[in-house]
Amino acid sequence: MVRSDEIRAAGTDLVKVYTSATGEMHALRGVNVSFRAGSLAVVMGPSGSGKSSLLNLLAARDVPSAGSLRLLGREVSALGRGGLGRLRRHISYVPQRASRALFPHLSAGAQIRQLARLRRVREVDPYAVLSRVGLEHRASSRPADASGGEQQRLAVALALVGTPSLVVADEPTSELDHRSGDQALAVLSEAAAAGSAVVVSTHDERVLAVADRVLQLRHGVLSGEREGRGQALAAIDPTGRVQLPPEALERFPTGRALLTIEDDAVVLRPPGDAG
Ligand code: ADP
Ligand code: MG
Repeated sequence: MVRSDEIRAAGTDLVKVYTSATGEMHALRGVNVSFRAGSLAVVMGPSGSGKSSLLNLLAARDVPSAGSLRLLGREVSALGRGGLGRLRRHISYVPQRASRALFPHLSAGAQIRQLARLRRVREVDPYAVLSRVGLEHRASSRPADASGGEQQRLAVALALVGTPSLVVADEPTSELDHRSGDQALAVLSEAAAAGSAVVVSTHDERVLAVADRVLQLRHGVLSGEREGRGQALAAIDPTGRVQLPPEALERFPTGRALLTIEDDAVVLRPPGDAG
């Protein structure tokens, strides 16, 4: 039984700063998110907005610079290397570059059997796994002989071996045509239906059709959120910061707003506006 209220991944004030020779890059600036079992959440946002940074954290492939990250009930900062490794066994990750998820020397069928061993899955039918993404005829081919799209489909198929608690897929349809993209999405939404918490980042509007929830990232900040086909919500962080969508922001060229609290609304007006 899946408890649909069970939170499988949660970040509080998540910060990710990359340090390089040219300086610091603040990729995530205090993000608050949570992901539940049995649902598929989509993270959208322009290139550079922090999607991969967030997904790397959720997949336990990276640790935050600050803030709290709870994965499968564990606080990541309290885990050592071993603990983090054990956690990863229950988390499937489809990286933006799918080839990174593949064993380069193994055929597609052998990849599936190998992963099943690592995840302690007793029985696995590689043919059945491959046919879900239309790769049943490719069981004996190695990653080097596969196209980018085939590698991506294989990575998605691998992500589902052993019904992982959490599935994190970074732009998993970026190299797929409509038909195989739809197949991959069907597989990801089946994983959610089977009880996994599924997080998918994308630019692909088709993914919205299978989303239970859509999160918008901008400049490393969660700017908006929409539940199902319901209302679009702006995210408010615990210190009270709200990020305005661009069409609202352009009304405040001075970067200042007149704020009034009314009975049923909080209103922002450009200063000097009679309202
Ligand atoms: P997205 O996936 O939305 O395109 P990313 O999370 O990949 O965004 O990147 C967010 C920002 O962090 C970008 O400005 C990117 O250049 C920077 N960045 C990502 N990874 C690194 C890294 N390893 N080192 C330095 N900067 C990085
Ligand atoms: Mg990315």
